[in-house]
Amino acid sequence: MVAPQDRLVDVIGKKSAVALANLNLVTVDDLLHHYPRRYATRGELSDLASLVEGESATVMAEVATATEIPARGRGGSRLQVTLTDGTDTLDLTFFRHGSWHKGKLRPGVRGLFSGKVNSYRGRNQLAHPEYVLVAAPGEDPDPDAAEAFARALIPVYSTTGSLPPWRVSRAVSFVLDQVTLTEDLDPLPKKLRDELGLPSIGSALASIHRPADFAEVSRARHRLVFEEAFLLQVVLAKRRLELASMTALPRQAIKNGRRQQITKGLPFELTAGQLEVLAEMAAELSKSNPMHRLLQGDVGSGKTVIALLAMAQVVDAGGQAALLAPTEVLASQHARALRKLMGEAGDKLVLLTGSLSAPERRETLEKIADGRAAITVGTHALLSEGVQFKDLGLVVVDEQHRFGVEQRAALAAKAQDGTRPHILVMTATPIPRTVAMTVFGDLDISMLRELPAGRAPIATHVVSPRLNPTHLVRTWARVHEEVGRGHQVYVVCPRIGEGDFESEQDPADQTKSGERAALAVLEVAPLLTEGPLKGLNVEVLHGRMSAESKEDVMTRFAAGKQAQKPIDVLITTTVIEVGVDVPNANMIVILDADRFGVSQLHQLRGRVGRGQTQGLCLLVSEAPADSPANERLAQVAATTDGFELAQADLQLRKEGDILGASQSGRRSQLRLLEVIRDADLVMQAREAAISWVAKDPDLDSWPPLKRAVDEINQEQPTEFLERS
Ligand code: ADP
Ligand code: MG
Repeated sequence: MVAPQDRLVDVIGKKSAVALANLNLVTVDDLLHHYPRRYATRGELSDLASLVEGESATVMAEVATATEIPARGRGGSRLQVTLTDGTDTLDLTFFRHGSWHKGKLRPGVRGLFSGKVNSYRGRNQLAHPEYVLVAAPGEDPDPDAAEAFARALIPVYSTTGSLPPWRVSRAVSFVLDQVTLTEDLDPLPKKLRDELGLPSIGSALASIHRPADFAEVSRARHRLVFEEAFLLQVVLAKRRLELASMTALPRQAIKNGRRQQITKGLPFELTAGQLEVLAEMAAELSKSNPMHRLLQGDVGSGKTVIALLAMAQVVDAGGQAALLAPTEVLASQHARALRKLMGEAGDKLVLLTGSLSAPERRETLEKIADGRAAITVGTHALLSEGVQFKDLGLVVVDEQHRFGVEQRAALAAKAQDGTRPHILVMTATPIPRTVAMTVFGDLDISMLRELPAGRAPIATHVVSPRLNPTHLVRTWARVHEEVGRGHQVYVVCPRIGEGDFESEQDPADQTKSGERAALAVLEVAPLLTEGPLKGLNVEVLHGRMSAESKEDVMTRFAAGKQAQKPIDVLITTTVIEVGVDVPNANMIVILDADRFGVSQLHQLRGRVGRGQTQGLCLLVSEAPADSPANERLAQVAATTDGFELAQADLQLRKEGDILGASQSGRRSQLRLLEVIRDADLVMQAREAAISWVAKDPDLDSWPPLKRAVDEINQEQPTEFLERS
């Protein structure tokens, strides 16, 4: 007897098991949840006379001859069969297991044979067709059997090169026959299933792998999707309960404190949206429950100042605040910007990154520990054990999807004993409402819907040198014009240098075989400096540079003409993707733009159009006009609304990718669930989960549910946006 948690190597052939492990299918349960990608049907019966080369066909015929041909070299044999319908003939070839097939395909038996018709030496043949035998020699075939064979659904599985799809089918089939999925293995409580009329897990899995018709597939699918949604919602409902039971120190706003001073000194008016979010958070920070809020706002919507004012409120109340940024470039930019906004209180801010010298680091750590540092801005260096706060009241995480869960937890643990800091997470990644409401159910969500007034929209154009080489000439001429008007320009390449990307997960890092390598900063820079951009001040910036060089280049670029050695054009990588704010830079040229994803392009584009003049974004690509890559670029060019782009992008990708699930170590928790398409089902699952958890918070009444939820928590812990 086989159990779901058994390892496939112990159940099926070693070779198949190893190949399946490459698909992240390790246990019997993994394989059972590897659902068919689609279903094929064999179709109507054809006559032997009417077969068309290249098409799939199913025929009923009688075996005339069957000849086994020993294979040269290694063992085994080939089988050559001729079929007849009395008038015409058709050949079959079985390249493997010849003698096994010969035992079944004796002359005179009738069968149904299905496969793709090809032509060999002028004769039609089917290579290793599927077949069933329907009558022994001399007998009449059963007409129902013929029809059932032609109509049956054949599951088609995704697989990898080393494992043919039929091997996957066979493994699934074998495992289905061996395993018994009893009630006590079903994560969905029986009571709930009965209420909602859902089949058991055993019957759903049997149906999805071996359905009689599409109605059966759809019943099974419904149950499996509901299960995925329900488990996720139970996780979230439990997490909300846990959060509600934690305490935080209340940090009430005070009159005439720093928060008010900073607000008065701002060089601009806060927008209505910013004020609304600030009021909401001011109230939450005053409570003794930890705030746990996600602030979404499109690129350039002004999230940083909100973070600053929230931090100032906590500082006014005697606590400390920390701002965590994904890159050193961004951390030091934040430190610079916040110091400026804080005026004379600027010296209460410290910057903690991995590149401080030992004495600097020691001094900074002391300030954090004794409370002299009111606000600490830093990279992941903030998370290390040596960093002790006196009284950490608020953690702001900028561009949160760059941070891991454990890291956030590490920061949360730095609050005073028994309490949690308030947490504000900021992201420009637009999350569609359905996704936000359902998947991020444990965070409260605020949205900044408007950009500060007076911004001219960014103009975006796709430049195709392949269609028209003069486009590229024009591009570089535009760069000269912008610099001539006193502006600055970014030129972005997908790569740093030879085989060198900013990060392993970089979507740009997807060179398909046969494609040329993406353009690299270190290769492009000398060509541009000596060529089309001659006469301009060009610098490079990328992640492999030392912290000082990066800081030097960024500071000079940010200072514009004021810098001692000003920079007109910055040739760079995705290091500038998030957060970088230099309003005087108003043109960005993205080379090999088709190597980037839609949201990445939108983020990169967000580096310009931050001042009062119109921003310009040129997407240079050699992708053919009608390719999907080019279509994505056209989409980006068509709108500057990050929200709309995210919606469009979602239609192209499965949510699994967005949620980062596809990158989790083992199989994705979200296999069938697509949050937008399944919105109704998700809402139903959410209600069911909330009422279930309210009655049975520890899930003791249905152990399989508890086990499944624990497994999700282990595999794909708290946040789902993290790895997107
Ligand atoms: P993001 O939301 O992308 O992090 P930032 O906080 O970097 O955006 O803000 C983008 C730019 O807009 C900054 O230069 C900032 O000073 C400016 N800004 C923020 N709020 C306002 C406002 N209410 N009016 C005008 N400019 C603003
Ligand atoms: Mg930002």
